[in-house]
Amino acid sequence: MPNKSRPRILWTVLGISLIAALGVWSLLFSLKDRSVLSLTVFDVGQADAVFIETPDRFQVLVDGGGDAQILQKLGSVMPFWDRTVDLVILTHPHADHVGGLVDVIKRYRVGAVIESNANYGTAEYAEWQKLKKENNIVSHSAVLGMRVGIGRYARVQILSPFGVMSAVSLKNPHDANVTALVSFGASKFLLMGDAEDEIERGILGRGINPRANMLKVGHHGSRTSSSEIFLAAVSPGISVVSAGRNNRYGHPHQEILDRLAAFSKQVFRTDRDGDVVISSDGRSVTTATAK
Ligand SMILES: [Zn+2]
Repeated sequence: MPNKSRPRILWTVLGISLIAALGVWSLLFSLKDRSVLSLTVFDVGQADAVFIETPDRFQVLVDGGGDAQILQKLGSVMPFWDRTVDLVILTHPHADHVGGLVDVIKRYRVGAVIESNANYGTAEYAEWQKLKKENNIVSHSAVLGMRVGIGRYARVQILSPFGVMSAVSLKNPHDANVTALVSFGASKFLLMGDAEDEIERGILGRGINPRANMLKVGHHGSRTSSSEIFLAAVSPGISVVSAGRNNRYGHPHQEILDRLAAFSKQVFRTDRDGDVVISSDGRSVTTATAK
């Protein structure tokens, strides 16, 4: 029955050509290095999620926000066929940082995890632990001095916790916050998570230089963090606060906004600016906002 099989052959050939074209296109796209590193502070409400993509497309997610909206955010910065996140850093196990990572680990193949691994007894955190185990994901315990290459051109340096906190029980999980300094060429990005002034003092007291072009402000702009002495040492050109509109904590606190204005050239906040994107070519840094 040649008159019936011919269209079928034609469709098969067309299908194969289309798949081949898409394959070549995606391969070319993924092989080509860009010249910039981009860092996006997502607007995920009263929560934290930062996505980093290096010039050679190594992808890092620092915290995942509180819920599944992280999936829509990742979909907006990653190509549709990309189902891998190379590295996840969890700053601490509070629900507004780990909640969305549970959704991420269900949809994406996560290469490795860095977190404090301190004990924490909530349902979200138990689910996160279970999913890491089921997916055979290595969970490295963060500690001061740890350095990790992210792709060939950039690196992450861990500034806290100051000792290994694996299996340690804490009253305040912020005391084991994973603080990360990302370097690309001469550009530095300091991601504070919910670190409070005790960690800030610990960093300065150990003679660590926290100077950075960009600061992801600690603890949603709360007055527990961003001490004057620390902001003076960081001296960030750009500060970004992640906070939800009309959140019940009153974050960011006005005194911290005033302080940031004094120590920083530009201050962004996700509740007003939406997603904030910072790009660096290794020398200078530029910003763009969603709103
Ligand atoms: Zn927290």
